[in-house]
Amino acid sequence: MSLFSFTKPLTLEDLKDIDSGRIQRSKDLRIKKVDQYLVTDKPDTLLGTIYRKFLEVIAKKPFEVLSKVLKYEIVNTKNNNSHIVIIKVPMHVDEKKLMKQKVKIYCDCSDFMYRCAWVLNNHNNLFLNSRIKDALGIAISTQPMKVKPTVACKHAYAAIEDLIKNYRQYLIVK
Ligand SMILES: [Zn+2]
Repeated sequence: MSLFSFTKPLTLEDLKDIDSGRIQRSKDLRIKKVDQYLVTDKPDTLLGTIYRKFLEVIAKKPFEVLSKVLKYEIVNTKNNNSHIVIIKVPMHVDEKKLMKQKVKIYCDCSDFMYRCAWVLNNHNNLFLNSRIKDALGIAISTQPMKVKPTVACKHAYAAIEDLIKNYRQYLIVK
């Protein structure tokens, strides 16, 4: 990989762009938001860190980006299987820019693990903590070879739909 190769982060709009089968199956899910909390983002890259420092020098104050982490429990009404989806999305969003927000997402289902995790990690859209890193293991760094990758499973899609529907309530909208 070259030093300058760079994969653009995906937006909410990009993450909704999945196949019609998963979208259709997302209608069978019952979703419940079980937790939400605020976090202060640190830049993910060295370039991001330098840029942040630059902004702080210009503004003469610490530059902080506040995000909300939403946690969902998603139950398939056909078989009662349940999965956890986590989405991290910037707070204080401008309404017109909602669909252009870069979000991080995770689901604990196997579709996500085998078809989404690698793609999302490549775009810097994978929500990670130490527990999730352990759970996904090599799925984070191994490109799917035998299956067609996708940017979201049906659970993630359902959670994104809930976020878009309720963004006024979840995010402080400008
Ligand atoms: Zn899933």
